[in-house]
Amino acid sequence: MSDCIFCKIANKTIPSKLVYEDDQIVAFDDLRPQAPVHSLVIPKRHVVSVQELGEQDHALLARLLLACTKIVKLKGLAENGYRLVTNTGRDGGQSVFHLHFHVLGGRHMAWPPG
Ligand code: 5GP
Ligand code: ZN
Repeated sequence: MSDCIFCKIANKTIPSKLVYEDDQIVAFDDLRPQAPVHSLVIPKRHVVSVQELGEQDHALLARLLLACTKIVKLKGLAENGYRLVTNTGRDGGQSVFHLHFHVLGGRHMAWPPG
């Protein structure tokens, strides 16, 4: 999608701090980190949110989650733990409408979220 900021990051039209890439997925550090580690994992294909995925997307969803756990290992979060979040829609607090998983770690996460 031409006016989507994460599509532009995926196709390298705008720069980001890439942490992982394969044929279907890109991960990069968040511009405004909310924790010592804060990366975003996205499909290269434009998908609005997790809610848009269907039966045909099993493999992509599995690969997105596995990419998250790879980044967890890369960033040294596996031992102490971390949080994976995908904000969805207005009430979920989604601000960029291209599916992304936040990988947050490096500090204790409070519950419930705000
Ligand atoms: P959401 O609010 O949709 O769950 O998360 C969007 C995230 O994207 C936010 O944490 C925000 O800081 C991050 N973000 C927005 N624009 C950019 C950008 O241009 N580059 C990077 N690296 N992160 C961005
Ligand atoms: Zn997009």
